Amino acid sequence: MSSVELAGRAPEYVRSIARYIPGKPIEELAREFGLDPATIVKLASNENPRGPSPKALAAIAAAAAELTRYPDGNGFALKSALAKRFGVPQDSIVLGNGSNDVLELVTHAFLRPGDEAVFAQHAFAVYPLATQARGAKGIVVPARDFGHDLDAMRAAITPRTRVVFIANPNNPTGTWLAPEAVRAFVAAVPRDVVVVLDEAYNEYLESAQKAHASSWIAAHPNLVISRSFSKAYGLAALRVGYGLMDATVADLLNRVRQPFNVNALAQAAAIAALSDTEYVEESRRINREGVHQLEEGLRALRVRMLPTHGNFVLVEVGDATHVYDGLLRHGVIVRPVANYGLPAWLRVTVGLPAENARFLDALAAVRAA
Ligand code: PMP
Repeated sequence: MSSVELAGRAPEYVRSIARYIPGKPIEELAREFGLDPATIVKLASNENPRGPSPKALAAIAAAAAELTRYPDGNGFALKSALAKRFGVPQDSIVLGNGSNDVLELVTHAFLRPGDEAVFAQHAFAVYPLATQARGAKGIVVPARDFGHDLDAMRAAITPRTRVVFIANPNNPTGTWLAPEAVRAFVAAVPRDVVVVLDEAYNEYLESAQKAHASSWIAAHPNLVISRSFSKAYGLAALRVGYGLMDATVADLLNRVRQPFNVNALAQAAAIAALSDTEYVEESRRINREGVHQLEEGLRALRVRMLPTHGNFVLVEVGDATHVYDGLLRHGVIVRPVANYGLPAWLRVTVGLPAENARFLDALAAVRAA
């Protein structure tokens, strides 16, 4: 049997999964255009533009001495730190290889072929991918002002619906839902439907904008909150995130995960990063200033940008493929979002001041050409 015939034996729903398109790596652009990697600015993957927290680096160095050993498969120390931070029991926490893993674990545990998962148009790309990988059907609810239309999402729930995904803030649109609206939604969803509240960008919100949804779990055991160490905590390369949920639900997710899904360096670094509140605070401050810089720069160029609650901005450029290519030639990598149904827009991660300036200058040059 040829490998093509063999691949044909895989379920149709697996064969037809669209590839996830990541941001272009710096080294790849350097190779393609013969550029010096040091001159390239990457604003394509919503990464923290600062280096990692020195505390996280020190924790990694210390943990490296134990590389011959398997990590703690139960993540005791990291879960203890998280339990303390959120005032929840350890057995209500599930660690993930990035919060992406937590999203997948929910689909693994709850979706069968033929089930439905509901999510918004322009919502994070992993929701449809993870849904399809289980043979389940994604129900896409049209966006309202680029954000989630919670009333319509509630109305889209049928007896076949097992999971609903909410991203708050959402990537790539940067839209945000007020805590009261999310809480009312969670309360309105049937209790046999899992609500995944994806808060990967939570740390970029101002205090008054945060939902503190972990306190809702007792009343709503169908609520799963996912969080990430990849963004404001600056640990994207290590792949570590977590979910907060009812202990019985956590037990299910823990059964379907890999036994050692979060590596030892990631666990050690995450504990250190969690305690480095100054680093997170400073990351938020730099991000806020960067958003202002981009807002002003884009206004001067008469380019529309959506208001954002994350560490990225969505920018309307018209022929996005052309502008994206032009920016690459100037050594600036951003993210096309046609796969999100936004072919006229580019998503630009907020960088350090000099990186934002490089993007604005390059955009001006591409538009003038
Ligand atoms: N949720 C959202 C909304 C995201 O944008 C991302 C990263 N792009 C993730 C989850 C996953 O991030 P990670 O796996 O790095 O925690």
